Amino acid sequence: MPLRELKDPALLGVGMTSQRTRDRMAGRLEEAGITDERVLDTLRREPRHLFLDEALSHRAYEDSSLPIGHGQTLSQPWIVARMSELVVAEAPQRVLEVGTGSGYQTLVLSRLVPRVFSVERIAALKERAAERLRRLSAHNVTLRLADGGHGWREAGPFDVILLTACASELPSALLDQLADGGVLITPLEDDTGQQWLTRVRRQGQHFEYQRLEPVRFVPLLQGVIR
Ligand code: SAH
Repeated sequence: MPLRELKDPALLGVGMTSQRTRDRMAGRLEEAGITDERVLDTLRREPRHLFLDEALSHRAYEDSSLPIGHGQTLSQPWIVARMSELVVAEAPQRVLEVGTGSGYQTLVLSRLVPRVFSVERIAALKERAAERLRRLSAHNVTLRLADGGHGWREAGPFDVILLTACASELPSALLDQLADGGVLITPLEDDTGQQWLTRVRRQGQHFEYQRLEPVRFVPLLQGVIR
């Protein structure tokens, strides 16, 4: 449901969290090369400020990543927009996100694709994200507390898998759960430690890697924190 149709006026924000501020953010993203109108519209509509602690909500529409606790970060708007563009280009039915974090990227995906599955390894983050997504009526999202390196076998295969944390080597379970013709979009580290946004396309048992642009993400870690 678009934000403006929600009954709760508090969701719209005021001042630094107002519609004007969101419009300005979308304008900057367009200048920075984001072209997909559906993505821009979604970012213009959805309340990024609700995915941060109140003390930080006035900074929600800046071009920066912001802390969400537990040493993790909400990705900067440009990265969310860029990754969402890459997802939308595939016209996918089912998407798996690894690294729910605040749930903001999850919400954006839920407005753009029919079915979203998202895995987070830190229980407290998963719970908070679940609350926000419920409040915003993102009914096509299913969350799970788990080590996303194992994927989500029962829910796959996926047309797109999106990682919002950086691995030095891709977990083979994730490649296995990619549908034929599907893509995995992820940061990947090179030998020098530089991270690159990378698109991996599956053609049967062949995986074709395409390096896009330099990025900076928190690391993909193992195990679950309850
Ligand atoms: N898309 C999120 C980004 C959060 S940062 C947002 O916009 O808020 C990346 C997240 O990935 C963190 O919450 C971190 O806990 C999670 N993460 C790291 N390794 C993981 C793993 N193996 N399985 C699931 N989540 C993981």
